[in-house]
Amino acid sequence: MEVKYIKGVGPKVAEHLKSLNINSVEDLLYYFPRDYEDLGTIKKINELKDGEIATLIVEVALIKPTRKTQSRKNLNQIVFKDDTGYLIGVWFNQPFIKNTFKVGENVLLHGKIQRRGAELQIVDPRYEKDYQSNEDKILPIYPLNRFFTQKSLRKIVKNALEQRDKIIKDILPNDIIKKYNLVDLNNALLNIHFPQNQELLKKSVYRLKFEELFVIQLGLQYFKKNLNSDLTAYEIPYSEKLKELKEELPFTLTNAQLRTVREILIDMKKSKPMNRLVQGDVGSGKTIIAAIAMFNCAMAGYQAAMLAPTEILAEQHYLSIKSLLLKYGLNIELITGSTTKKEKQRILESLANGSINIVIGTHALLEENVVFSKLALVVTDEQHRFGVRQRASLVSKGHNPHVLVMTATPIPRTLALFMYGDMDISIINELPPGRQKVDTYFVRSTMKERVYNFIKKEVQEGKQAYIVCPLVEESEKIEANSAEEVYEYLKYNIFSDNQDYVGLLHGKMSNEEKDYVMSKFKRGEIKVLVSTTVIEVGVNVPNATVMVIENAERFGLAQLHQLRGRVGRGNLKSYCILISDATNKESIERLTIMTKTNDGFEISERDLMLRGTGELFGLRQHGLPDLKISDLFKDVEILKITKDLAKELIENKMIETQEFAEIKLKIEQLFKEKIDINTFN
Ligand code: ADP
Ligand code: MG
Repeated sequence: MEVKYIKGVGPKVAEHLKSLNINSVEDLLYYFPRDYEDLGTIKKINELKDGEIATLIVEVALIKPTRKTQSRKNLNQIVFKDDTGYLIGVWFNQPFIKNTFKVGENVLLHGKIQRRGAELQIVDPRYEKDYQSNEDKILPIYPLNRFFTQKSLRKIVKNALEQRDKIIKDILPNDIIKKYNLVDLNNALLNIHFPQNQELLKKSVYRLKFEELFVIQLGLQYFKKNLNSDLTAYEIPYSEKLKELKEELPFTLTNAQLRTVREILIDMKKSKPMNRLVQGDVGSGKTIIAAIAMFNCAMAGYQAAMLAPTEILAEQHYLSIKSLLLKYGLNIELITGSTTKKEKQRILESLANGSINIVIGTHALLEENVVFSKLALVVTDEQHRFGVRQRASLVSKGHNPHVLVMTATPIPRTLALFMYGDMDISIINELPPGRQKVDTYFVRSTMKERVYNFIKKEVQEGKQAYIVCPLVEESEKIEANSAEEVYEYLKYNIFSDNQDYVGLLHGKMSNEEKDYVMSKFKRGEIKVLVSTTVIEVGVNVPNATVMVIENAERFGLAQLHQLRGRVGRGNLKSYCILISDATNKESIERLTIMTKTNDGFEISERDLMLRGTGELFGLRQHGLPDLKISDLFKDVEILKITKDLAKELIENKMIETQEFAEIKLKIEQLFKEKIDINTFN
């Protein structure tokens, strides 16, 4: 229903509501207050005490004419009454007050009570004429823009609430409402906007969160069930060579890596396609896990593909996996945007005829002309860099291939359960032994010279460093250091004797240029790499010990943590230096958190607390609806309850009954994208 059907909403107000993203009456009803102002319990006049701040609902009994006081102020008095007594409202120098009220009308008053002899007075109270008679007076506080005041928006919402019966239907079945002691939707909506009391407000919030999380959980699990039920995948046996490979690794796998590998191998042996997320902090060693899975797949005669977000990363994976599996005679290829046409043609043919066992690549892998003969395993590295659709498009190139996605985004477990309700999760909660904590410092830009000299000292000891700048070119508007400027400064000042030591890498360079610089850095010919965030994910140069981040306040916590993860990857003592002149509290807090902990999980929890769940991981990118009222961080308990309930309802097929018809419809709408993918899988 359009907002124009609400009393008092004309075309102009409707336009203004649009600017708050409110397009329908339903939107308005679901435009929840961000906070409340609690004026306290409504009192009767005979309960009032001298000096207290009180809220009352009274009737206007008498409006006295304006008088002059001895100190020559205008005095206005209005006599109010309720069924227990009289109260005098007192206003100074506000003569218009006497025209504001009408005898006989009801008014809400809020202010300080004073006893003057036998008389009770309330001086200059707040008053509100359009109120509901309820036990407590709790006023909603909405997020606003310049077109609205709290008062004006409250009035519109109030009028919209009158229409709620016509448009809102409670989709929760009665049995569930009863079992979980929920408020019905009608009351929940009324009380979330204009709560009768704190108790009902709490129950209404609970009810709305419950519904929101329940519907999503139901959707995720319904989808998972459908996805898994009748699809058959290639059953990939354990290779006899696995043991040999494990013994040849340059290191011993950590227990967490072993457990994860085991879980993957078990999944891949089943005829049901694996759908597994491997979550491990930066440097926890996820690449080797992907390599083992792909190895096992290839040894069984199937093809495996790995998708990486950047060319640098794809090439790095390609080189390390190729050398790791060298002796097994597998055909391993790399395909990226800079693969030559001729080369690409050859690879495409070999992929299609099945002679390539393992392919690693960037988005180039997703192109339509990439066809496989027996694709049985799809690995996506750094999955947060890809949308649902991109991942799905690689999956669609196989016949229900097993799916493995890897992420370093350190998501608290509850959030992971929510976002990946349709996936199984392996968590690598252990770093390889010998890793040292990266010492992190937050310094002002006046320290820059000293920081650069510190880099010089590390370089003289044979180590390497990164300097990350947020922008490529000088911009007048944004006072960021340009990478090029820093590069030139280092080259001609700090390293004037060894200018070749300094390298520059940024997004505007061609792929060949980037590769060239990156490989020189890997070989140690370039000692100091000045770059933009192109090196953010995955890059592995264990000899690098210093990460300097300029204008560090421009980065989010998760990004800072990723960047810091580029150092401390070997056994060398490493440092991260955050340079920032930020003065706002939030930025300083963020940078300070970085200096206090190296634990990705802790950082992401702090990030959630600072920023809320909405923005952080881009729920939409995961094909999930935005949350209107729930906070995944705070509402863990409701999340658990609704998850269990959803599971039960799907297992006993209740979801297919008439009672759930409405919810099912809603799920189908909300999860349209995921369901689309499901059907073209
Ligand atoms: P990420 O999880 O960030 O992708 P990588 O897979 O790039 O981490 O591994 C980081 C570094 O740790 C690499 O140099 C890798 O060879 C090394 N590594 C991985 N597993 C172990 C282990 N169990 N013991 C020692 N080093 C390891
Ligand atoms: Mg990685």
